[in-house]
Amino acid sequence: MTDVKNLLACRNCKMLTDSEALKAAKVSLTECPQCRGQLTKDWQGYLAVVDFEKSEIAKTMGISKNGKYALKVR
Ligand SMILES: [Zn+2]
Repeated sequence: MTDVKNLLACRNCKMLTDSEALKAAKVSLTECPQCRGQLTKDWQGYLAVVDFEKSEIAKTMGISKNGKYALKVR
């Protein structure tokens, strides 16, 4: 299980990325792997999207990829 404390949120698309996975892949810890937006530790609450095509909240949030998303990003 991923430790929530290791998750970084993207300021642009709100996707959460595991910082441990970024370290393991030797890629930047400040750049979103999905959209190249800025990653931050300053976020609250998350939503796991398993089927974005059927999820109303994913539609509302403009999510077009399954994954974990922060509800609030500062
Ligand atoms: Zn992003």
